[in-house]
Amino acid sequence: MAACLTDELIRIYDALFAAFGHQRWWPAETPFETMIGAILTQNVSWTNAAQAIRNLEDAGMLDPHLLAAADTTEVARLIVPSRFYNLKAERIREFSGVYVAEFGGDPATMAAVETGTLRERLLSVRGLGKETVDSILLYACEKPVFVVDAYTRRIFSRYGLLPEETSYDQTQRLFTENLSPDVGLFNDYHAQIVRLGSAICKKSPLCDCCPIREVDGEIRCAAARS
Ligand code: SF4
Repeated sequence: MAACLTDELIRIYDALFAAFGHQRWWPAETPFETMIGAILTQNVSWTNAAQAIRNLEDAGMLDPHLLAAADTTEVARLIVPSRFYNLKAERIREFSGVYVAEFGGDPATMAAVETGTLRERLLSVRGLGKETVDSILLYACEKPVFVVDAYTRRIFSRYGLLPEETSYDQTQRLFTENLSPDVGLFNDYHAQIVRLGSAICKKSPLCDCCPIREVDGEIRCAAARS
């Protein structure tokens, strides 16, 4: 663990926390709702995904056994707000099938599986990529896995801690190799990154109101210096 990188990552988190407060993720009532939310929010805003979850709940379908056996057309009809609904309906049914068949539809049984083994198994489910699987591992199973998204890459490359073209794994290693495997920290750190990336560090960044524009008297981002 490189002490200076660790300190820098912690200082950035502290500045985000001071500005935004704890983000209280994931916004879900149950671990299974978190899992389905992680699939529904692929390539769409959380607002869209949340509406699709409400539709499933109102229809009494937010249940792994029901979704595993459901007609995908019916599921697709309920999740229209999440876009790509036909594809996502199939992903939800396939994931629910695995969740029921291999873990009994029980989050504790799933969370008891060793992290690397579980990650590999979930990555082998059709349509589940690294961001979705890591969200399930962190937010539903409480595993110390850092979730990476486009905001993470953008912010930390602008900040100079990652190259401009960076992979998912390289970005993830920046955090996992320099921070203690702390579920609470990983949970809120990713949530803070989403808050910063969606509201301030946009394609055209609003550096003047960025809480990490200046950390310890130093301006790191080129965009903030111009
Ligand atoms: S200072 Fe600007 S470029 Fe740097 S993280 Fe903040 S908004 Fe993004």
